[in-house]
Amino acid sequence: MNQLLFPTPPVSALPVRGRPEQVPIRRIFCVGRNYEAHAREMDVVVDREAPFYFTKAAEHYAPSGFTVSYPPGTGNYHYEMELVAVIGAPAFRVPVERALDCVFGYACGLDMTRRDQQLAAREQRRPWDLGKDFEQSAVVADIVPATEIGHPREGVIELRVNGETKQHSDISLLIHSVPEIVAHLSTFYHLQPGDLIFTGTPEGVGPVKPGDEIAGSIAGVGTITLKIGNPDEG
Ligand code: MN
Repeated sequence: MNQLLFPTPPVSALPVRGRPEQVPIRRIFCVGRNYEAHAREMDVVVDREAPFYFTKAAEHYAPSGFTVSYPPGTGNYHYEMELVAVIGAPAFRVPVERALDCVFGYACGLDMTRRDQQLAAREQRRPWDLGKDFEQSAVVADIVPATEIGHPREGVIELRVNGETKQHSDISLLIHSVPEIVAHLSTFYHLQPGDLIFTGTPEGVGPVKPGDEIAGSIAGVGTITLKIGNPDEG
């Protein structure tokens, strides 16, 4: 290989419960509006025909337990608690019935969002990148392998801020299920091991400010925490 002019970017990798190895993050896909009650609170009608997606850079990963800086360019920084599916085998045009064979495991995730930027982009029919794809915006906890927990189809998904419950739903209410999402996404991409899929958030999204502590959980999957720090002054 040619010598590199700049240092290689660090690999973002996720711990796996019960294993010494980590999973390198390849791509991060996120499903929009995948719980009806959340779509309603966002004043949009759900599309039951097909999911839609946005992406986040792997470099924008932050681990559970981290303190993130309140991000620049927003005055309305939101949490979104989500089930994350982790791809463990190549998948291209995989049928729904075989889609779960390509899922290595699951994790709790926080799709941190600059809501003001996202809504301004939506209003102007522009891409969502500034609202969704920014530094430390993809928070993911340890992966639990499907060999340990199976493929969860139901279970309470919750999020608290400073101990107060803000989101409380059940992953059985996902409009598009994990196998349906994997099958659909695999008609557009050659999915690869290490690809992550954020499956969408239930209702109850809201803002956080410096000093707040977020704690989320999904029954049978695990927990995730995040602290909000002060903005970077630099
Ligand atoms: Mn989301």
